Amino acid sequence: MEEVILVLNSGSSSIKFTLYSGAAPQVDGQISGLGAKPRLSLVSSVSTTRVERPLTPDEGKTHGNALATLIPLLETELGGKTVDAVGHRVVHGGVSFTQPVRIDDKVLEELGKLEPLAPLHQPHNIAGITAARDVFPNAVQTACFDTAFHREHPWVNDTFALPRSFYEEGVRRYGFHGLSYEFICSHLKATRPDLYKGRVVVAHLGNGASMCAVLNGQSIGSTMGFTALDGLPMGTRCGQLDPGVVLYMLTEKGMTPDEVSDLLYRNSGLKGLSGLTQDMRTLAASDDSRAGEAIDYFVFRIRRELGAMAAVLGGLDTLVFTGGIGENSALVRERVCANQDWLGLSIEPAENHSGAERISSDQSKVNVLVIPTNEEEIVRRHTSALLAA
Ligand code: ADP
Repeated sequence: MEEVILVLNSGSSSIKFTLYSGAAPQVDGQISGLGAKPRLSLVSSVSTTRVERPLTPDEGKTHGNALATLIPLLETELGGKTVDAVGHRVVHGGVSFTQPVRIDDKVLEELGKLEPLAPLHQPHNIAGITAARDVFPNAVQTACFDTAFHREHPWVNDTFALPRSFYEEGVRRYGFHGLSYEFICSHLKATRPDLYKGRVVVAHLGNGASMCAVLNGQSIGSTMGFTALDGLPMGTRCGQLDPGVVLYMLTEKGMTPDEVSDLLYRNSGLKGLSGLTQDMRTLAASDDSRAGEAIDYFVFRIRRELGAMAAVLGGLDTLVFTGGIGENSALVRERVCANQDWLGLSIEPAENHSGAERISSDQSKVNVLVIPTNEEEIVRRHTSALLAA
């Protein structure tokens, strides 16, 4: 019988899930608005089942209650089969978790120690794991890390210029979105092996956004650092910032560490710059000049990092756009790729709007691709391998 794997991506107010039988997705969905206005959306790809309903306040009170609500629906779809394993996306694996692992009490304790490094994500990833262990006590639980893909990158990309002791205690440039980059690389390897072996920059542009320089399938640098705050501006996160600004906030503005954290994680980025919203679709449709400036800054930082990464790679063969914005915003792709003749990069406007995978022009020396990411599939593959091990 084919193994059944449930992949969970637990965030602060949402749990995204995909249920697989073998390699085939059976059910996709999410519980959103946890703790506020909880809702369940679920779509089966093998039956006509579609669920779209509010959860009661009790059903949506905790991650555990929400998962418990989900079980009978999944059981109906499974028709008598049981869940063999639950694979969790975990944002931070620190120094020690360089590979996916089976979760036991010891692993869970270690993951808890990493919470301060990813306060926006890690506590919720752990809440999802704890809930899934209660709800599926007989299933194997695995953790797949967003940091793992970057753990082999060169020391100069792993360290900050601080006294060595900080590096030793784990203050490093971890890099994130590794499951997405791993999917893109595996897709390239399978479909365009010549490009996989080359110099690639992947731009994962979603609510969270980062870029990764990849050489022969191996991450050699990422725009994200110690936490998921660094690098590109994001929906609500600031991206690269002079650390002196944080000192100014603390000493001159009298802000508390919690206030600074809230500002940098939840009220900066596109939302902070525009004063309107974090949503790229809304910004692109707005005629408010602040919306335009927020997009200008987003594009400017991507272009700057692209140049830096091309320099580090010694040239560029392929640029991949992925994530909600990278996959869907022809406007952002067009603006990132404008006037990049120095790099030998140009795109074909018609292709850019067509939904094609390859959007570079015939003259372009750099292949420009749009590839939908699939982090869930990477978690499934790792979980399946751990089940078999
Ligand atoms: P997350 O990091 O939460 O997974 P996503 O990858 O789903 O985020 O990306 C969300 C972003 O993608 C939002 O800013 C949203 O506006 C943007 N987006 C989604 N569809 C489009 C579109 N058609 N055009 C422009 N932006 C889009």
